[in-house]
Amino acid sequence: MLEKKYLLVFDFDETIIAQDSEEEILKSAFSKKELDEINQALTKIDFFEGFNYYFKKMKQNKMTLKDFNSILDKIQLSPKMKELFDYLRENKSKYEIIICSNAVDYEIKYVLQHNGFLDLFDGFICTKGKFQNEKSEHLLFVEKNQFPHSCNICSSFQCKGFEIKKYIENSKNKFEKILFVCDGSNDFCPSKNTLKKGDIVFPRFEHNLYNKLFKEKLRDQLVCDVCPWKNAEEIISKLKQL
Ligand SMILES: [Mg+2]
Ligand SMILES: [Zn+2]
Repeated sequence: MLEKKYLLVFDFDETIIAQDSEEEILKSAFSKKELDEINQALTKIDFFEGFNYYFKKMKQNKMTLKDFNSILDKIQLSPKMKELFDYLRENKSKYEIIICSNAVDYEIKYVLQHNGFLDLFDGFICTKGKFQNEKSEHLLFVEKNQFPHSCNICSSFQCKGFEIKKYIENSKNKFEKILFVCDGSNDFCPSKNTLKKGDIVFPRFEHNLYNKLFKEKLRDQLVCDVCPWKNAEEIISKLKQL
């Protein structure tokens, strides 16, 4: 029998974790001088090539996977996110929980595992990275063009609106509501185009999506409910009311 559930979609960077994973990783892995060069280079290359650019540099610097993991160990969850995950664990039968992020799957799963919450997630829409053999010149390797789409408001590398819609269409569950916890300007498209009346977007307070909705006054373009959060306990309160 099909069970009615809520689909809870989480962004990763600056939503589940307090900061941006890429920035945190680069800051810990490289010297100030290297970092300046990398940031310069990243502005000129394709999004997916960007990962390969610095994974290659890490390998050249003789960084091991163990070193890389120890950087991931230091990544902090957002305020009260642990409490939200504990709450979701206790009420898991009501929720299908996925992540939609352009961060690399290895990093996301490692951080969740490290914090003891990997098992809470039912699906991952994120950049796939793979480990190659010993002779590889990269620590991890990411293939190009992982999320082809034709949306004209999203960057070429990923349209979360399209990806979440596809996930919903392919799911065997019929969802009571879509709940979307996020922060960034790339989270605007799904909020506008995928979430419907009665669904809820949770933009992180004073982050890009929040600013877009309330400072650039684009709130009216959304038909879903909007519930800003500073710490994830505010999300728990809202979930308890559903
Ligand atoms: Mg984000
Ligand atoms: Zn889009």
